[in-house]
Amino acid sequence: MRKIGLASLLLCASAAFAQEGTVTYRSMEVSPGIHMTIGVNSAGGFASGNLGSIVTEDYVVMIDDGQQGTAPAMVSHVSETVGRPVDFVLNTHYHGDHTGANAAFAEAGAVVISHHKLRERLLDNTESAGGSGGIPVLTFGDGVVLHLNDITAKIIHVPNAHTDGDSFVVVADANVIFAGDLQFAGMFPFIDLNGGGTVQGYIEAQRKIASMADENTSILPGHGDQSSNLAELRADTAMLVDGYAKVRALVDQGLSEDEVVAANPLAAYAADYDWYFINAERMTRTFYADLTVGN
Ligand SMILES: [Zn+2]
Repeated sequence: MRKIGLASLLLCASAAFAQEGTVTYRSMEVSPGIHMTIGVNSAGGFASGNLGSIVTEDYVVMIDDGQQGTAPAMVSHVSETVGRPVDFVLNTHYHGDHTGANAAFAEAGAVVISHHKLRERLLDNTESAGGSGGIPVLTFGDGVVLHLNDITAKIIHVPNAHTDGDSFVVVADANVIFAGDLQFAGMFPFIDLNGGGTVQGYIEAQRKIASMADENTSILPGHGDQSSNLAELRADTAMLVDGYAKVRALVDQGLSEDEVVAANPLAAYAADYDWYFINAERMTRTFYADLTVGN
């Protein structure tokens, strides 16, 4: 993989990876009316961020919608599995692998909802929303609640975590939480420092999600091929806390970025947490950049 900025890499992910294979979507029902949807790339590479849906008697809500290049596949997947128009699309954050089909769903009548900072970021990069028609039309600050027949979906903003416009969704009636990219289950997470994310904010966001979960909660991560849970989320948080402390100790000793990388402070986690987009070296560089910002 060429070494380019992580933010631009992620935003370009659909273009860069879509050519390697065909992306299709599959959904699993984690609770009556609540689905987790995962993109599958026929070539085994990057497919999409995970997304989900809440379907009640009168409403269909999408939580994120995949990437622009596969918007037609996404729209037909929803029409096959749900068979009704989408009323609301909630974007958990501004990255194009979660917002790329906004315009397609808006065109079909959906109202796109997001944190107000997410909207500002999409205004700077309308392509991430599948075009200007995909810009959110309803925004919120700390959060907003959707009352969907017998299901209440609480949308909660967390500041400066994966980006500066993140939110996650709690469906207490079903004991399900849509975490968006506040969890990369069992993988080193991408923390978008250029998009307003911070390591400490990311850790705090995971703790907030954990505080609203119990051992039976289905936590649906933004990346990861199945639903996760409280124990796994806590393990992911513990890795971040420990890894960040290890890098901080080396920074405090005055080591340069490359010297910190050479010391391999995340070695103990690499086997479990490395994946093709973020490996231990990239995670170390993210920690280093976060710790030395403004220096
Ligand atoms: Zn993301």
